[in-house]
Amino acid sequence: MRIGYGFDSHEFRSGIPLKIGGVALHHDRGLGGHSDGDVLLHAITDALLGAIAAPDIGALFPPSDAKWKGADSVIFLREALKRVSEAGYNVGNVDASLILSAPKIGPHSAAIRTRVAQLLGVHADCVGLKAKTPEGLNLENAALAHVVVLLEKSPSQRKKRKE
Ligand code: MG
Repeated sequence: MRIGYGFDSHEFRSGIPLKIGGVALHHDRGLGGHSDGDVLLHAITDALLGAIAAPDIGALFPPSDAKWKGADSVIFLREALKRVSEAGYNVGNVDASLILSAPKIGPHSAAIRTRVAQLLGVHADCVGLKAKTPEGLNLENAALAHVVVLLEKSPSQRKKRKE
């Protein structure tokens, strides 16, 4: 069993679409960044990579590489999942906290959890999502994500161990 933790933050910018957890949300601003700025997928990706002590998202997909400009963050998540699988683990569950002043996440929570679960290959019951406003943090123009993930040895690996 392994535990991983990931954190990310991005700044809101006008004129770009908002994507959180692989879901496009209607809002007047999006999250800036070299890729599509999906703060939640980035934190999940880093939690997965951290759980297996792999290099982090910035090392695997450097912002200095033009290849990742505007990239769909699902690409980063899939690479992390591939490495998790190669290391002999499956995703058990994920728990995330999003911190942002707007838009309200509540109405989109089910869609985000469903999409994240689909990407991770787990049931939506295995994806926790809380949204908080940045009370007292003076972070009205940013979105933050904290994520923990639990990995379990895949059944084939468990069998191998016994042999
Ligand atoms: Mg990021």
